[in-house]
Order: sequence, then C-alpha cells, then structure tokens
Amino acid sequence: MVLDSPGPGAGLRDEELPEPEPGAGQLRVRVEACGVCRTDLHVLDGELPDPKLPLVLGHQIVGVVDAAGEEVDLARGERVGVPWLGWTCGECGFCLSGRENLCDRALFTGYQLDGGYAEAAVADARFCFRIPESYPPQQAAPLLCAGLIGFRALRLAGDAERVGLYGFGASAHVIAQVARWQGRRVFAFTREGDADGQEFARSLGAEWAGASGDASPEPLDAAIIFAPAGELVPAALRVVEKGGVVVCAGIHMSDIPSFPYDLLWGERVLRSVANLTRADGEEFLALAPRVPVQTSVQPFGLTEANDALARLRAGTIRGAAVLVP
Ligand SMILES: [Zn+2]
Ligand SMILES: [Zn+2]
Repeated sequence: MVLDSPGPGAGLRDEELPEPEPGAGQLRVRVEACGVCRTDLHVLDGELPDPKLPLVLGHQIVGVVDAAGEEVDLARGERVGVPWLGWTCGECGFCLSGRENLCDRALFTGYQLDGGYAEAAVADARFCFRIPESYPPQQAAPLLCAGLIGFRALRLAGDAERVGLYGFGASAHVIAQVARWQGRRVFAFTREGDADGQEFARSLGAEWAGASGDASPEPLDAAIIFAPAGELVPAALRVVEKGGVVVCAGIHMSDIPSFPYDLLWGERVLRSVANLTRADGEEFLALAPRVPVQTSVQPFGLTEANDALARLRAGTIRGAAVLVP
C-alpha cells in the first residue's frame, strides 16, 4: 500500500511492487502482521517533514525471515519484529551516550524507510527484535510501537504511583497493564462521551475513567498524553501533584495553548518522549510476557489499510488496529 503524496485527504494506493532484496546487513521478512499507529496518520496528513516518497507506511512489523544479506546472524524462518527505529549512525554524541533515539541521522521505518503495509519488507537486522514465543503475530505487532513507546513514556514518569493516561488507544491499553503490574494506580482520560473507551480502560485495571476535561478524583503523580491534542497539556498539568511529571508521548501534537505559570510551578516537569532505543525494545519485549501484556487487536486486510486509518482517526478502534496481508 503506497503513499505518493501526503497531505489532507491523502490515501494509500494498492500497487504490486517488485520483491525487495536485502542488502548486506539486512533481512527480508514475509509480513504476518503490521500494526497501525497514529504516527502513520501524521505521515499521511503531511504533518511530519520530508518522508521518503513514494512510501510504504508501517513500523510495527511482525514477520518471518525469508532472506538475509551478508553479515546477518538471524536465520531464515525466525520470527522478528521491525520497529520504528530503523537505522542510526552509531557515532554521534547521542548514539555514543546510549541515546540513539535522538540520533541526528536516524532513519525511521515507514517514514524514511519503506515499512510493513506490504507482503514483504526489508530491514537492518541490527534493529530487529526477536518476538517472544507466547505472542501470535497479530498480538505481537502493537507491542512494537504502541507498547514500546508507551513503556519508555511510563519509565520517564519515574516512580509515580498514580498515573493518568490521556487517550486510551493502542498505547494506553498496553501500558495500563504494565503500570498495574508494577503496582501503580491508573486513571484513564478519554474523549468526552466515550463510554465504551472508559469501560475498556476499567476492564484493563484503571480504577477511574472519565473525560479528558474532567477533574481527577485525586491529584496524580504523573500523566502521559497519548492523544495529539495540545490542549491536554495544561489539562494534565492541572491534575498532577507538585513534583509531578507530564509526559507527551506522541511524535506530533497540535499547538499547546498558553497557560498560567502556576500550573508548572511546584517543580512539575513537562517533557516529551522521542522514538526508542534498542535497549528499550529488548527490555520491554522481555517484560511483556511476564505481565503478561494482552493486546486487543482489530485485524484488517492489507488492502483495507485506508479503512483502518480512517477508523483510527475516528477513534473507533478498541485497542490496536493491525493489518494482516
Ligand atoms: Zn547517531
Ligand atoms: Zn508508532
């Protein structure tokens, strides 16, 4: 499924492409499932600069290795995951200090590299993960970004006990389970009137669920914002306790409205989370089966990608949308 030209109203086109051939250090996977992420909508809408074009979207790829270039130690037949972080330079200050997620020259899957809205994809083997055996492909796909970025955001929330999650989509439905398992308390904030989303959040361990404009039943120690709406930043600052952290977990957000300094005062911290490191991926994929994280997925055929994206935009996906070629 190919994106030719991003912008408002853009869609993907079904095209038969030549089989991608892995170069040195790369492998080719036969795609079994590819998660649909909000970032895909931002690329589609032209909100992220300079995508590769034409482009195959998709950065939560689960598939089986069917060919490998030189210098690859993953065997054919092995099931791997291909995440958002597709390549880093390995030599800049960020790479050398364990922060490859911030590498200036990083290349991202389904954005600057062709991704997994396809039957086959090629990836740099060093950035692929082994998929835990207990996860079937469709259930594993949302772990690769929704889970992984959510996990990084949760870690950056520190040892917060009371955690608010704004936007209860693919990420929050994974991370609520991890947070509960770690002994934290979860409060879910959804779109106004989304009774189904609130019920879903409670079923995954949220002790309270309400609308994003609602007052929290008690002050929170941290809030993670998954929805791309800037007005949630002052709303979240308003519900966190002194010393609390507000983490913006999305790659793109509408402008943040101005707010009184009082909301930040009291050593509240406002920060973003960018991308992932390979260490995050290894840590999270080892932890997920121990929780065990269970993902709710809504499968779509590969050529139904536009439909899946529209449903994600409308907020009518319960859990995560996954394309299944
Ligand atoms: Zn670098
Ligand atoms: Zn993503």
